[in-house]
Amino acid sequence: MTSGTKTSVTKPRAACLIGWPAAHSRSPLIHHYWLRTLGIEGGYNIEAIPPEGFAEFIMHLSAHGFAGANVTRPHKERALALSKPDDRARAVGAANTLWYDNGELRSTNTDVEGFINNLDACAPGWDKVEDALVLGAGGAARAVVFGLVERGIKRVHLANRTIERARTLADQFGASVLPVAWDAVGGLLPSAGLLVNTTSLGMHGQPALELDVSLLPPDAAVADLVYVPLETQLLAAARARGLKTADGLGMLLHQAVRGFELWFGQRPDVTLELRALIEADLTKA
Ligand code: NAP
Repeated sequence: MTSGTKTSVTKPRAACLIGWPAAHSRSPLIHHYWLRTLGIEGGYNIEAIPPEGFAEFIMHLSAHGFAGANVTRPHKERALALSKPDDRARAVGAANTLWYDNGELRSTNTDVEGFINNLDACAPGWDKVEDALVLGAGGAARAVVFGLVERGIKRVHLANRTIERARTLADQFGASVLPVAWDAVGGLLPSAGLLVNTTSLGMHGQPALELDVSLLPPDAAVADLVYVPLETQLLAAARARGLKTADGLGMLLHQAVRGFELWFGQRPDVTLELRALIEADLTKA
């Protein structure tokens, strides 16, 4: 076949999730749902990239065919170091979302807005509280504490089994973050207008989070980052008391919004239909 004219084929935009091993992630389900319902021609793949290949892969992300990426374990700290991070990624010390801004590889951490936007959606008015109590001082806690401080919460009490980790985190986030010993939690519950579990306690296969929610104020809000199971014992007890709650699946869905917007140019909604889709996937796992 001969042809004198060249046809240029524009490939649809695509993003990916980079991890090692490539964990079973719900991100493809979420982004494919939005691509489909918004009528956008695009893709979202999982890329299993070992640590030794990560730098090469993201330095040539565009050449690999991607407009951006989500990054998960064990690459989040390297992603921060190899890109130009925003304030959130820098404060959290880890990047989970990459995109190009005028050819420059930028990064952010969307767990911050995932947590805050989910609380806004599920427990409007939560930010009137003066005292928040955060359990845990791991990676997820950094995003939560940054979000609470950014929102202007007066006192964020931070309890962790290993108190040194809570102290280190508090030193970094300023005077409104107060490290407390794990056994002080019970005494802080009566004044906690917001309680957040960022530990893995209560997760399937992990020990339960032993805590008496009847000690919380009657207008308190309770958030749990754990989403397997969907309804943790903590959330069930809080709901039984009539407290406002925000669950880990809501946070997971809300954190995905910004990446999609950066890569595909439209801000998607977290709908009940999307939530039901992911719930069904979680319960069959
Ligand atoms: P991580 O960095 O490993 O931190 C784990 C935290 O749990 C630490 O504070 C640890 O305390 C505490 N912990 C573990 N076992 C404990 C026990 N037996 N007693 C008391 N404290 C214990 O993990 P991460 O990345 O922060 O994740 C934490 C949880 O958040 C996980 O369940 C994860 O799935 C969830 N998460 C959810 C979302 C979402 O979108 N919903 C996003 C991120 C994370 P020590 O410091 O004393 O070890």
